[in-house]
Amino acid sequence: MADFPTTARVVIIGGGAVGASALYHLAKAGWSDCVLLEKNELTAGSTWHAAGNVPTFSSSWSIMNMQRYSAQLYRGLGAEVDYPMNYHVTGSVRLAHTAERLQEFKRVVGMGRYQGMDLDILSPEDIRTRYPFLETHDLTGALYDPYDGDIDPAQLTQALAKGARSMGARIERFCPATGVRREGGDWVVSTPKGEIRCEFVVNAAGYYAREVGKWFGRDVPMMVMSHQYMLFDTIPEIESWSKEVGHKLPLLRDVDSSYYLRQEKYGFNLGPYERNCKAHWVTKDDPFPEDFSFQLFPDDLERLEWYIADAMARVPLLEKAALTKVINGPIPYTPDGNPLIGPMPGVPNAFEACVFTFGICQAGGAGKVLAEWVTEGATEWDMWSCDPRRFTGWEDRDYCVQKGMEVYGHEYAIHFPHHAWPAARDRRLSPVHAQTMALGAQYGAYNGWERALWYARPGDDISEAGTQTWRREGPWFGAVAEECAAVRDAAGILDLPGFSRFRLTGPGAAEWLARQISGKVPSVGRLGLAYFADDKGRIVTEMSVARLAEDELWLITAATAQAHDREWLERHLEPGLRLTDESADWATQILTGPNARAILAGVAEADLSRPWLTWQTAVIAGADCLLMRVSFAGELGWEIHSRNADTPRIWEAVMAAGQGHGLKPFGMFALNSLRVEKGYRAWKGDLSTDYTLLQGGLERFIDWSKPAFRGKTALEAEKQAGVSKRFATLVIETGDFDPPYMSTIWHEGQVVGELTSGYWGHRVGACIGLGMIRADLAVPGTEVEVEIFGEKLKARVQKDEPLWDPANARIRA
Ligand SMILES: Cc1cc2nc3c(=O)[nH]c(=O)nc-3n(C[C@H](O)[C@H](O)[C@H](O)COP(=O)(O)OP(=O)(O)OC[C@H]3O[C@@H](n4cnc5c(N)ncnc54)[C@H](O)[C@@H]3O)c2cc1C
Repeated sequence: MADFPTTARVVIIGGGAVGASALYHLAKAGWSDCVLLEKNELTAGSTWHAAGNVPTFSSSWSIMNMQRYSAQLYRGLGAEVDYPMNYHVTGSVRLAHTAERLQEFKRVVGMGRYQGMDLDILSPEDIRTRYPFLETHDLTGALYDPYDGDIDPAQLTQALAKGARSMGARIERFCPATGVRREGGDWVVSTPKGEIRCEFVVNAAGYYAREVGKWFGRDVPMMVMSHQYMLFDTIPEIESWSKEVGHKLPLLRDVDSSYYLRQEKYGFNLGPYERNCKAHWVTKDDPFPEDFSFQLFPDDLERLEWYIADAMARVPLLEKAALTKVINGPIPYTPDGNPLIGPMPGVPNAFEACVFTFGICQAGGAGKVLAEWVTEGATEWDMWSCDPRRFTGWEDRDYCVQKGMEVYGHEYAIHFPHHAWPAARDRRLSPVHAQTMALGAQYGAYNGWERALWYARPGDDISEAGTQTWRREGPWFGAVAEECAAVRDAAGILDLPGFSRFRLTGPGAAEWLARQISGKVPSVGRLGLAYFADDKGRIVTEMSVARLAEDELWLITAATAQAHDREWLERHLEPGLRLTDESADWATQILTGPNARAILAGVAEADLSRPWLTWQTAVIAGADCLLMRVSFAGELGWEIHSRNADTPRIWEAVMAAGQGHGLKPFGMFALNSLRVEKGYRAWKGDLSTDYTLLQGGLERFIDWSKPAFRGKTALEAEKQAGVSKRFATLVIETGDFDPPYMSTIWHEGQVVGELTSGYWGHRVGACIGLGMIRADLAVPGTEVEVEIFGEKLKARVQKDEPLWDPANARIRA
């Protein structure tokens, strides 16, 4: 073992496509002192048996980015590292059975174009010219992706490995990691060949990631599905057609039926994502194996019968072919189906790049993202969709299994903006859940917390099917309009369980915070919004800060931001300061609207004359609580923060007091409408590391006079050079649909920006877009167009102020 490396900068555990790509990208970034450990031969996990499809399609901007990058990388990789590579760029045809599906495609075409890709919509007639053997009578159209194709996953892995090795990185095959320990600020990874001391560790162990995670005290949120594809023998018609035209058929995805069908030599590869799917290694009688290298599950064709018959009806030639082989392999799933790429929550210098469901088409981009996390502590693109910190630790085994199965069975489903997926619900309930349910609440889960989305009135359609539409005016619309009207004219109450909150204490706490945020720390008794930038001046997060005492602060942030923000704060925390996570101890109600004061006056022992952006302790129904005078809805209002046990009492008292004042409960849909009217940004939509604070229009939250704060140097340089794009509010011509995330903004035939929020403003009666536009066009009155599902609608740039109550007179009332 004389040659065995005993030290390295980074050790990667797992040699599938993703681990190999991570190693390649680290080496490419100049970090060649890295070692990859593989317990068996490279590709022994999920990689060896993957079908190797390489789509760029995604309805998520960041996932599309990652897949686009992969496809680009793979095109040149074989030549770059001098390794043979079977990569067929065949293009793909993705079929639409419904108008809604075609809309999804049109949206993706818009996003693809913005990423420099020429995706296209095909009419049913056009489809036949691309794919002659297809039954099209029941189709509404298709999406054509010229970049789609298939790659040999083993060759891809070997090519990445060869590239990495040639840059000096090391790969130890047949060398399992068997444990890790922390020693003197280093990690020590043990293997049968010896120990490796390193600075960073990466868990890239694929479906074994949960086992590896345990060494770090981490319960990786994942489960494993069985996934099959079938290979069919040569079909003479396909052979003669292919030979005649000189290429393969494009990859076919019948997403509404839920399978792909790919030409394989002169036959087919059929791969369904079946509804009646099967999880593995989740019950006691089916334990997780010590080693499953290069193994498969037994064929299980029964559950695929419907899909085989459907594919045969779609491409009747398939009926002629003999089934030659079935591959049934393990494929890991997180509860939302996206992989884990980024910092391992709560563990220093450890990262994850695992639980990939589409790890072949994502490996290239994932390697880039992982390498950036390790070498720079930040990524070029905002990658929240894949950040391990989006799970916060409450997700138990049963939740992971139920969600994984739901995602698998709906792998190709459309994600409609008002639809809430039904599996594994009711995991985290507000102390007044029963009360909101009795009032007709229809719920959605936020970091597992059930929050009312809207309150159904008698007779409103509350079916799941009713939410499967892109239309603005779905079954919720009338009720939401009434909720907004109540907030505007009387008062509304929103139960908001799951706010993340941290108490920061210790000598110098406020001073420390001042160095972390761009603006001022509020004085004792007051509160304010605080923005955290990274060293490049990009928006990391936003928190409400309440100064409870000189050096005691409450930092309140989004439910989903809990692990992310805690990690950010802890990473920079200085000795002597203490941060405690009190998220689980408190409940929050938003009471807002012109009658809010009168309602509170009836129940609260408090000084309700205190101005906007102050807090006070108060007593309601005999229970202590905190009143914070803020309103994300943009009306006179208070947040009531109370201990869980006291919350039902407080709720009942406030509801009773609201009786004569028109008090109505409202939900998250109404809140979204109210906040876009105020131009209030949403985290990881409008506020992300894709934008700097200056681009985000947040200069009023920057205190340039402070000697230093994180990101200041970069922001100063940006200000001097001039910002390239700027936040703007648009009012968009009223069509039937609100613009989804990343709808593009056009001006004189060019894309000049993108929307990060789009919703109907019920108080102003207009379709509102918040987004980023080329700086020279961020001028009130500029006429632009917004592309919504392929249609360009007229829009106008508004003044840089809220559309509703620009002077904040109502909030200050
Ligand atoms: C039937 C089927 C078809 C598929 N088709 C596609 C497709 O067409 N396109 C696509 O993008 N994806 C596809 N996938 C998914 C794809 O296979 C995976 O997402 C991908 O292979 C994951 O790669 P990985 O590197 O993350 O994990 P893996 O390939 O599983 O690699 C993890 C590696 O870690 C090693 N390891 C584990 N523990 C240790 C340890 N303690 N020490 C050292 N090494 C360890 C394992 O031996 C393994 O080699 C398919 C999956 C299946 C089952």
